[in-house]
Amino acid sequence: MSNPSLLILPGDGIGPEVMAEVRRVIDWFGDKRGLKFDVSEDLVGGCAYDKHGTPLHDDTMAKALSVDAVLLGAVGGPKYDQLDFSVKPERGLLRLRKEMDLYANLRPAQCFDALADFSSLKKDVVAGLDIVIVRELTSGIYFGEPRGIIEEGNERVGINTQRYTESEIARVARSAFELARRRGNKVCSMEKANVMESGILWRDVVTEVHQAEYPDVELSHMYADAGAMQLCRWPKQFDVIVTDNLFGDLLSDAAAMLTGSLGMLPSASLGAPRENGRPMALYEPVHGSAPDIAGQGKANPIACILSFAMALRYSFDAGDEATRLEQAIEAVLADGYRTADLLGEEGVEPVSTSGMGDAILKALDASL
Ligand code: NAD
Repeated sequence: MSNPSLLILPGDGIGPEVMAEVRRVIDWFGDKRGLKFDVSEDLVGGCAYDKHGTPLHDDTMAKALSVDAVLLGAVGGPKYDQLDFSVKPERGLLRLRKEMDLYANLRPAQCFDALADFSSLKKDVVAGLDIVIVRELTSGIYFGEPRGIIEEGNERVGINTQRYTESEIARVARSAFELARRRGNKVCSMEKANVMESGILWRDVVTEVHQAEYPDVELSHMYADAGAMQLCRWPKQFDVIVTDNLFGDLLSDAAAMLTGSLGMLPSASLGAPRENGRPMALYEPVHGSAPDIAGQGKANPIACILSFAMALRYSFDAGDEATRLEQAIEAVLADGYRTADLLGEEGVEPVSTSGMGDAILKALDASL
């Protein structure tokens, strides 16, 4: 049988720097755990524009659709700010998400004990936190029609439309229930059924999918505004939260900050399962291309490495190896290794991007 395939798109700014550390981790799993991947690498974002005049070449798009998983670094940078909207680096990422039909965006908020002091919340509120927000990514108010700014009388009116079909809600609900079965077996669905018809439908459909297909998973419902409060008050009450595109955008950013630095946050965007059972999948850190530190060896590679851990778990059915990698990162942080973005205590010398990679590989060796 051939090895699973992985397309790597490092992108711009710190993307290539953090991805270089991921490549070392991928090689480690090939050498030491017999988990080999057919890895190919290509361009996305500003670097693709520089070479091809487009942020995502058709050949790259075709490759992304054919591989088992795509791992992306970050795109964008000041050099490309003046480009026409149609060829901006971000358009490459949006095209990937759209053509791969990645409707479920998984954003974990996991607090490593060694970094609990980094949160703006009290340590006991966040220590040991491990939740995932599943955000619907391809529909809802960011895409609904009609939209636009129109003239009405003597003033302008801005219009956006929240629109969800039953099938769009059902498929993201299934993603959340499947995920919960691999974790704490609990889903909390968030909407505003008290004031929005789309929220009433959301609640109905999630309930129907639950009763018909996932009665073993615990399901609760919460209004999204109350959910935001509960996330700050006692986030550990949640396991998996499923919500729409708009609320998910806000709630996942708020949840992310429970855990500290942007340099620590991975994400996965998943689509429909294919014939081999693997979902269409794109893994990427939450952070951008960080032009302010690019090329200086200061970037924290952990978000990107944790994104690869998510790929191991959700695309390659290697949850044990994903846990091994997460525990190696936990051990490195517990030993006091910090990139510059994680510095808090005085007198701690930061490690470089590759220094953090070295430490993680050493911890992986120690796990054998
Ligand atoms: P950013 O995430 O790139 O940076 C925000 C801040 O966090 C910066 O101070 C940066 O140095 C720091 N930071 C981010 N990642 C880090 C890491 N791994 N290690 C250490 N520090 C890190 O967001 P921004 O500055 O708003 O955007 C910069 C560029 O990235 C823009 O062109 C933007 O469009 C693009 N962007 C891309 C993505 C993506 O590719 N998914 C996401 C967000 C922003």
